[in-house]
Amino acid sequence: MTRSFDAIIVGAGQAGPSLAGRLTAAGMSVAIVERHLFGGTCVNTGCKPTKTLVASAYAAHLARRGADYGVMIDAPVRIDMPRVKARADKVTLDSRQGVESWLRGMTNCTVFDGHARFESANTIRVGDELLTAPRIFLNVGGRAVVPEMPGIHDISYLTNTGILQLDRVPRHLVVIGGSYIGLEFAQMYRRFGAEVTVVEKGAHLVSREDVEISEAIREILLAEGIHVRTDAECITFRPHPDGIGVGVDCTEGDPEIIGSDVLLAVGRRPNTDDLGLDRAGVAMDARGYIKVDDGLETNVPGIFALGDCNGRGAFTHTAYNDYEIIAANLLDGAARKVSDRIQGYALYIDPPLGRVGMTLAQARARATGKKLLVGTRPMTHVGRAVEKGETLGLMQVVVDAETKKILGAAILGTSGDEAIHGILDIMNVGADYTQLQWAVPIHPTVSELIPTLLNEMKPDGS
Ligand SMILES: Cc1cc2nc3c(=O)[nH]c(=O)nc-3n(C[C@H](O)[C@H](O)[C@H](O)COP(=O)(O)OP(=O)(O)OC[C@H]3O[C@@H](n4cnc5c(N)ncnc54)[C@H](O)[C@@H]3O)c2cc1C
Repeated sequence: MTRSFDAIIVGAGQAGPSLAGRLTAAGMSVAIVERHLFGGTCVNTGCKPTKTLVASAYAAHLARRGADYGVMIDAPVRIDMPRVKARADKVTLDSRQGVESWLRGMTNCTVFDGHARFESANTIRVGDELLTAPRIFLNVGGRAVVPEMPGIHDISYLTNTGILQLDRVPRHLVVIGGSYIGLEFAQMYRRFGAEVTVVEKGAHLVSREDVEISEAIREILLAEGIHVRTDAECITFRPHPDGIGVGVDCTEGDPEIIGSDVLLAVGRRPNTDDLGLDRAGVAMDARGYIKVDDGLETNVPGIFALGDCNGRGAFTHTAYNDYEIIAANLLDGAARKVSDRIQGYALYIDPPLGRVGMTLAQARARATGKKLLVGTRPMTHVGRAVEKGETLGLMQVVVDAETKKILGAAILGTSGDEAIHGILDIMNVGADYTQLQWAVPIHPTVSELIPTLLNEMKPDGS
């Protein structure tokens, strides 16, 4: 027997549950299918556990620096890794249970546990059950890429999922991939006491960022004793009596690193390979992301894709914003578009990087012929950072000189993840940067330097 609903949602990640809440509140009957852990990547193997671990690592770091603040801790700082892990597990579990009990108790919502696959454009199979609905929402997320690097199958390796099960500090963690996931784990494990090497095949860490920001990030990591190997063109693996041999064909440094553990953090891929999309006729791009239009509908009317699986964002806030767009268009008569979204993200090393909009390099490339204004300020010139004893990093903003619109900004420094919202909000309301000139920010904060940064901008290249 086929069970009929007004809507089917596949995946209970960062968009599906909220969408179920809105649709059921509007009187629709909804089926939501989850094959594994409620809350998806963010709650179980992404944001929640990692940011909880980052907080433990920060506590360790500050304790070691106690004397800088006149706080004397006489015994050496010791890490109790099972306790560190238990703290992260609790934050994750509370959040997961919150999502799960919300969905199971939701009026008009039926939860199906299992793997969903299309039978046709309006029918989904979950085990022995067949579900049908005129609207189907895909929120299937993604998982870590395991690249076919030589020797990878001869060793055991960790991904963001496996590393969260560790209740020990690795002797030497080799992190493959110098982007945000890899760097967060690298710094936290260094602070937990591991020797850490980051291996990146590109010339710079966090390659999407400007070189100046990337180099400042490298300095932060080097200062904590993390080894960084960039330009690692050919990466190989082999079992070694002391652990794992990682071949690193770099321009300088040892050609092989002997690590105890290897973390792969080289990107994510969408969970679209076993969804039966071909039976529904839903189109994907060459990398397996579901193609969507500006309202997040696929090429098949009535089938939508939200979150990481549509390739239009790779963050919790973008997945959640996808839900907001769909709900507003479907239920509120709005015409919201994903292309209106101003991209922002944070890299949670310490100090963190908050980024919104274009990098300087992107602004130069995309706004050719336009005059740009650029403001840069080191965190050593931010009173709040000096008072906190956390002066690493810099802030940078780029503005279109003619339109006076902010094109992008980065704050790499203490509270950078929060302070960036002052700029993000101005960009979202579409106001000129000059609107901030008469703002009276609170002292002492990092944000109070944003008007100063804007007032001190100079023409690009001058
Ligand atoms: C280590 C790490 C740290 C991160 N930190 C941050 C951060 O600090 N900030 C941030 O914004 N983002 C962060 N992210 C990214 C963030 O986790 C994702 O962008 C977000 O979870 C995407 O949400 P989603 O709803 O698209 O998919 P997911 O959260 O992945 O949820 C998808 C769900 O669908 C289910 N599913 C998949 N296929 C099927 C199927 N066929 N049938 C039934 N169910 C299915 C899955 O089990 C899963 O529960 C991090 C990611 C990682 C890996």
